Amino acid sequence: MADFVGAVDQGTTSTRFMIFDHGGREVGRHQLEHEQILPQAGWVEHNPLEIWERTCSVIRTAMHARGLRATDLAALGVTNQRETTVVWNRRTGMPYYNAIVWQDTRTDRIATALERDGRGEVIRRKAGLPPATYFSAGKIQWILENVDGVRAAAEAGEAVFGNTDSWLLWNLTGGVDSGVHITDVTNASRTMLMDLETLDWDDELLSFFDIPRAMLPEIRPSSDPKGYGHTLSGGPFGGEVALTGDLGDQQAATVGQVCFGVGQVKNTYGTGNFMLLNTGTEVVRSRSGLLTTVCYQFGADKPVYALEGSIAVTGSAVQWLRDQLGIISGASESEALARQVADSGGVYFVPAFSGLFAPYWRSDARGAIVGLSRYNTNAHLARATLESICYQTRDVIEAMARDSGVTLDVLRVDGGITANELCMQLQADILGVTVSRPVVAETTALGAAYAAGLAVGFWRDTDELAQNWNEDKCWQPEWTEEQREKGYAGWHKAVRRTLDWVD
Ligand code: ADP
Repeated sequence: MADFVGAVDQGTTSTRFMIFDHGGREVGRHQLEHEQILPQAGWVEHNPLEIWERTCSVIRTAMHARGLRATDLAALGVTNQRETTVVWNRRTGMPYYNAIVWQDTRTDRIATALERDGRGEVIRRKAGLPPATYFSAGKIQWILENVDGVRAAAEAGEAVFGNTDSWLLWNLTGGVDSGVHITDVTNASRTMLMDLETLDWDDELLSFFDIPRAMLPEIRPSSDPKGYGHTLSGGPFGGEVALTGDLGDQQAATVGQVCFGVGQVKNTYGTGNFMLLNTGTEVVRSRSGLLTTVCYQFGADKPVYALEGSIAVTGSAVQWLRDQLGIISGASESEALARQVADSGGVYFVPAFSGLFAPYWRSDARGAIVGLSRYNTNAHLARATLESICYQTRDVIEAMARDSGVTLDVLRVDGGITANELCMQLQADILGVTVSRPVVAETTALGAAYAAGLAVGFWRDTDELAQNWNEDKCWQPEWTEEQREKGYAGWHKAVRRTLDWVD
């Protein structure tokens, strides 16, 4: 058998391709950013053609750098920014509109209307999600209503919907000529259109958004021994590789962190933050503002579910310091700047740029920087930004404890921001628990590789995967209990200032 497994990680800010060996060690990678298109306040788009082109480039570059061919890969997994919505024409391969990104708030009226007339309760019960701009259904509805010709084409089965996993899988398997139109249970569970119990598109949910069933992909397991299809000799691998793994990025990171036991938790720090708690084969409903979602489904096994706390803005607040304020020239500089001061000098920054997600779910919130005095500097703002990442995480952990009774001793972390050692120390201080980072911080790509490799027998079972997990570094809390509680009370005061902002 081939020695490696590949994974495409189509993220919000960039697309990467990674190659892993049997020990789960990284063998090669390449990564390219794509443009964040911000046409007006609250709108965030990506160009799907650019994403496909970047995907081909990162695959070719990483394979070439290691001198690998398609036959060196036992299987290929795909993982993706979830919810982000692409509608394209299956006869021409052309998107009808840019991808509408998960952070985009243009559908806030659609989301609010669902809450007013009882449909919100049905969505909560069937899909496990609160109606919000975040999920795909409202974005599909917006495209159907605002782009000429899409509705008729959708009814005829010519205009099709996919998240970026479906878009890439369709293109990787030959697009217009032979592309497969599929998604996996985890991505489907983020649309507001899938029933969590039946794992199928639900007619009542579809009717809420007036979405024709003909435009939706087939829902498949996240790790599928039957395979979704093959890459083609004319494609970026120059040969056939079996496509056998597909997971939304946060679920993939949960698999990459080998959280296969009930009660295990991981927290990923990227553009936003996403904490998932494995709840096993039972659907656990949240009373505290968390989402119920599919964690993974391997082959014919029962699906495993998770409770999720999603935070819209964490790493993107650091990007904002860089791109909009220009007070740092790169994300990693936030650490050096924040270290210039011993604390945030009374400043709190609530980056509610896309409203507030878990556990608040307030589309009407907007960002605020509070507690400023003449004494404060850029360094305080940088430190308050890092603290905001950690306080938002604490809000989610408190909600999880309320819903599940699980109290954490150790938080397993991954994602781009975990390179920021000050932020990880602040996280331990603000939570009062140990924070632990694994050797392979790219757990999202690793999880997609694991799903793909399990399907073809490259890895035997989840126990074998669990042996691959090794700690790189951990951080212990240093703040006193009094400091911790005073800081957290201040955070809540700041959050209250951001609510009711949008009429
Ligand atoms: P995604 O998969 O969502 O694209 P990544 O895991 O690649 O995200 O993380 C990228 C995010 O992390 C960016 O928003 C960036 O601002 C932030 N980031 C990266 N490195 C650092 C750092 N050293 N300190 C703070 N933030 C960082």
